[in-house]
Amino acid sequence: MQRRTLIKLLTIGGAGIGGAGAIGVGGRSFAAAIASENHAEWGYVGAKDSTHWGDLSAEYQACKVGQQQSPVNLQKAIKAEPSPLQIAYHDIPLRVLNNGHTIQINAAPGNQITLNGSVYELTQFHFHHPSEHHLVSKTYPMELHLVHKDSTGALAVLGIFLQAGRENDVLKPIWAAMPSKKQPEKVVTGAKVSIARLLPKGREAYEYFGSLTTPPCSEIVNWVVFHDPIEVSQSQIDQFKQIFSLNARPIQPLSHRFILDAQS
Ligand SMILES: [Zn+2]
Repeated sequence: MQRRTLIKLLTIGGAGIGGAGAIGVGGRSFAAAIASENHAEWGYVGAKDSTHWGDLSAEYQACKVGQQQSPVNLQKAIKAEPSPLQIAYHDIPLRVLNNGHTIQINAAPGNQITLNGSVYELTQFHFHHPSEHHLVSKTYPMELHLVHKDSTGALAVLGIFLQAGRENDVLKPIWAAMPSKKQPEKVVTGAKVSIARLLPKGREAYEYFGSLTTPPCSEIVNWVVFHDPIEVSQSQIDQFKQIFSLNARPIQPLSHRFILDAQS
C-alpha cells in the first residue's frame, strides 16, 4: 500500500471513506474555499478569535465542525519507514508581505518537494508566534510553515520549530524588510532567500493529515513537522513579536487520526 493511501486511511477513522472529507468544506471545492478566504474578517484575540472562526462565515464552518483540524499536539506517533520526502529548493528573490495575520514570503516557481509520490510546488512560507504545533506538549517561540501545492490543489506543509539561539542569517533580509502593518507584496531589490538553509539538519519528522490553521480551515493538508528546531536569535523573535504578539491557533483534537513518526 502506498504511504499516502495509508495516511489517508489512518486519518479517515469513523468519518467515512474516500477523499470527499479531505477536499473542500461542506462539499465546496478547495478553490472556492480559498477564494473566500478574505470574505470575513478574523483574528487571534477578541470577538473574532479562533473559538469563533466557525461562526464568522459559512465558508469557515470546517473551523468548527471539522474532525481533521490543525495544529495538534505531536505525540504518541507510530514509527514508520523512512520518509520518501525529497526537497529541491533554490534561492529565491525576496517578495514579502504582511497580510494582517502573518509575515509571508511568496516563492518563485521551481521549488518543489516530493512527498509520498506526489510533487508539490512551494507557493509561500510564513511564520507563527508562538508555535502552533506542540511537540509532546512543548511549545516553541515560533514556527515556520513552508506551503506547497500539487496539481490537484492538495497541500503539503513543512512545519519547522524556531528556538532561541544564534541569529539566523537567512531571516536577516526578511526581518529587515518585513512590514509592521498590513501591506501588499513588495519586492526587495537584490535580496535573495536561501530557503534550503531554513531546513533543520535532521530530517526526522512527524506526518499527519490535517487542515489549514487559519480560516477557512480546509482539511486538505499533508503535514510534515520536523523534530529538530532551527535557531533564531531572541532579538529576531522579539522583533516578530512586536508585529504579531499572538498568531497561533490553539491545538485541536486528534480525534480519529494517527501521527506517523518518519525516521529518516
Ligand atoms: Zn501557518
